[in-house]
Amino acid sequence: MNRFLNVVGVADAVRESVKIAPATETETVPVEQSAGRALAAGIEADTDIPGFDRSVVDGYAVRSADTTGAGDALPALLPCVGRVAMGTSDRKLVVQDNECVYIPTGGVLPEGADAVVMVEYTDEAGDIILIKKPVSHGENVLLRDEDFKKGGIVLRPGRRLTPQDAGVLAACGCAMVTVAKKPVVGIISTGNELVPVTAIPGPGQVRDANASMLAAWLSEYGCIPRLYGIVKDEREAFEAIIFKALPECDVVLLSGGSSKDDRDITAGVIAGRGEVLVHGIAIAPGKPTIIGRIEGKPVFGLPGHPASAFVVLIAIVRPLLDRMLGLEKPLIRTVKANLEENIPSQRGREEYVRVRVENGKAIPQFGKSGLLNTLVSSDGLVCIPAGYEGLEKGREVEVILW
Ligand code: AMP
Ligand code: MG
Repeated sequence: MNRFLNVVGVADAVRESVKIAPATETETVPVEQSAGRALAAGIEADTDIPGFDRSVVDGYAVRSADTTGAGDALPALLPCVGRVAMGTSDRKLVVQDNECVYIPTGGVLPEGADAVVMVEYTDEAGDIILIKKPVSHGENVLLRDEDFKKGGIVLRPGRRLTPQDAGVLAACGCAMVTVAKKPVVGIISTGNELVPVTAIPGPGQVRDANASMLAAWLSEYGCIPRLYGIVKDEREAFEAIIFKALPECDVVLLSGGSSKDDRDITAGVIAGRGEVLVHGIAIAPGKPTIIGRIEGKPVFGLPGHPASAFVVLIAIVRPLLDRMLGLEKPLIRTVKANLEENIPSQRGREEYVRVRVENGKAIPQFGKSGLLNTLVSSDGLVCIPAGYEGLEKGREVEVILW
């Protein structure tokens, strides 16, 4: 008998998952700690950047017309009438016709000048400077507001901030920046056979691999994982730990016990204290997955097999996290590759095959869902859509990188 009577397609499951995503919250963090975070509100320049016309080289500020035709053989001879000091603007320092002023990189272009000759193309003869290369209007000068104009948009909301952005934010006068809060994701492992990582498994026991795997991925993805340890397949203990986690987390992931066997208690617990929205997804591996909600918080029941749990995390949970992370584009990274072998699949369910990517080839890493080694040997997943009976060798596929 098929115990999964209401298996839903992946697209529908993702829709359900995203629908219950809690609203993105925001917090203000120091700019130095903003890299990787989603910008919550757009940033405008509070001043013109730069705030003045400035030289981008060490050299001589000139009127470009005075350098026309200058060369090694016939330099333009311009008396140097002053020096620009850094960090100030001297309104009295003016470059008249056939004059020049020494200017360091970043100095304020003096009035009258419209270009700067690099010091490398000059020689000194007392107070006279020999200009050996002509410059055009604006050469070696960064104009006021050329970078950003006061009031103009510098960074748009939803952007994943980079270290470079932190520099730009600092230039705009931002010491603190408002970003999306990191979702706190609780992780509970269930199974009478599970033992902690530090234990030596006895007969019939396995170490809890899922909690560490889920937590590591979540941290890397910009979430805060919260580990609640291992709980036995006993309703009361399971409920107690879920209800400890719920107020402390935005989302709770339960791994193990998500199937429809009598001993699988996850669905019963979620249904008893909240609602089960999906139980069974047409995805392989990962069919026995639950999407539910308790006290308004999303609660996922992930299959116990680590590879299955990981595929469901990537395919079903990630879209919900993307919504919460407040990013304008999801963090998903893909690469195109050609299949090295035929991949068979069953029509009617979306299958995810782990593949290694090497020199533009996607090499399937076939293995039973209970094996861990394909997680090590693979770089990502290839999706075979539900309407296909496999994909043939040589076909170009998009690999979703881990
Ligand atoms: P279940 O989904 O509870 O039926 O478990 C399916 C398989 O995954 C069983 O072989 C479990 O021992 C194994 N399993 C369940 N939870 C974990 C876990 N946290 N770490 C590693 N293996 C697990
Ligand atoms: Mg179990």
